[in-house]
Amino acid sequence: MSNFAAPGGKASSIPLVGREVEPTLFEMSVPGRRSFQLRTTGVPEMAIEDIIPASHLNPKMVEIAEVSERDLVAHFTRLSHRQFSVDLGMYPLGSCTMKYNPKFCDAVAAMTGLNGIHPAAPASLTQGWIELLWTLEQRLVSITGMAGATLQPAAGAAGELTGLLLIRAYHEARGENRTRILIPDSAHGTNPASVTLGGYEVTTIPSNDRGLVDLDILKQSLGPDVAGIMLTNPNTVGLFEEEIQEIAQAVHESGGLLYYDGANLNAIVGVLRPGDMGFDVVHMNLHKTFATPHGGGGPGAGPVAVSERLVPYLPGPRPVRLADGSFGWSNVATSIGRVHGWHGNALVLARALAYITVHGSEGLRRVAQHAVLNANWLRVRMSGFLPAAYDRVCMHECTLSAASIKAQYGVRGVDIAKGLLEEGFHSPTVYFPLIVDEALMFEPTETESLQTLEALALSVERLVIRAQTDPESLHAAPRSTPVSRVDEARAARMLKATADAS
Ligand SMILES: *Cc1c(COP(=O)(O)O)cnc(C)c1O
Repeated sequence: MSNFAAPGGKASSIPLVGREVEPTLFEMSVPGRRSFQLRTTGVPEMAIEDIIPASHLNPKMVEIAEVSERDLVAHFTRLSHRQFSVDLGMYPLGSCTMKYNPKFCDAVAAMTGLNGIHPAAPASLTQGWIELLWTLEQRLVSITGMAGATLQPAAGAAGELTGLLLIRAYHEARGENRTRILIPDSAHGTNPASVTLGGYEVTTIPSNDRGLVDLDILKQSLGPDVAGIMLTNPNTVGLFEEEIQEIAQAVHESGGLLYYDGANLNAIVGVLRPGDMGFDVVHMNLHKTFATPHGGGGPGAGPVAVSERLVPYLPGPRPVRLADGSFGWSNVATSIGRVHGWHGNALVLARALAYITVHGSEGLRRVAQHAVLNANWLRVRMSGFLPAAYDRVCMHECTLSAASIKAQYGVRGVDIAKGLLEEGFHSPTVYFPLIVDEALMFEPTETESLQTLEALALSVERLVIRAQTDPESLHAAPRSTPVSRVDEARAARMLKATADAS
């Protein structure tokens, strides 16, 4: 047993090792413990009041957990062993593209020549970095079939807002006052949120019984007040919008623009380009398709590529190649301005360029082909026990429905998803898209082998049999994980982030 003092001076006895519940850093805190020691520098010691004016000082001490480096490392290592991760096994979370990320990309991002540079360093000292950003912009422009791009947005949703501000700048420059954006009912939740944040109103377009945008209703919804439409193709159900050219033509004829939510480019990268489908704006999640690990809330990157007519409004400054072959920054008066304090989440951008470069265009095409093949293999392999919501070829993910299992045995989609954790797989996405009853959305990605897909299918089949024979055990699943079934509503309403929460 070791003694730890909680911040209030309240001592608690918590053994360090072998506990069911990991103590929080505050519970491990002992006054005076430190995780580092600075060498004596020769700089004279000064009282804090002599450096910072008293009026700027916070009179209350900020409470910070005081722990040794050894305990700190052990704490986070133990926590990491209680987690499921992409490095541990298959993570078929639909609409999230939890692919395995090559360690090579992390090695590139760890190079001190890249990560030891301050973003304010002048262009003369950062030629390599600017060339890297400029090159990535070119690659993303050619992958999407667009005319220009910005790397600044720090996430997919930030890219959406940037794209909407670009659309607004375009219409305003033409003296047009358009107030509405159309969004299909299958859209990702960030789309309507970004539209509202961008100052527009949302008009929802219902899907037809094939899970696609209803073209007639779309045409009726268009008008001089419509600024554009936000689409994803393949859409969030994992299906390809076959009438995309008619959709693009109708929107453009009414003066609107087309936004492509390219968060998940896995299905089309290297095969099909949003620019060729008629889109004007596309954001990409580098932390999904282009090899940055994600899911734990770490940094992402949501670059936005645009068609010719939106290039003048792109956020600045942008990396440019100058006439003498060197690199610098450029800014134009029509730019909407910065959407990030600096140049974007730079090391995510470096990983993406490394990934794109080693794959080459042929390799990227294979990423999409294998992602789509894997999803369809899984859809067909599981059709006998967990049917697809739409009986047709899917793209990089398949949406299945547990509606009939629920009707027959009272076992819901979430029970099957939780049961999968006991089988050593991460759960699929559940109850999304909202338009599918008891949705279970699997995205295997291109990085899983046939053997892993077969193992997943066998596990799901075992769970469906368990639903018939022992439904109660599935309602209580998972039981073999460090944390069993959580009461999600209670966690949201009564957040208490200490080990003593009861
Ligand atoms: C993940 C995702 C987003 C949002 O991306 P963030 O980086 O989480 O902001 C938007 N649209 C779709 C379709 C997504 O899958």
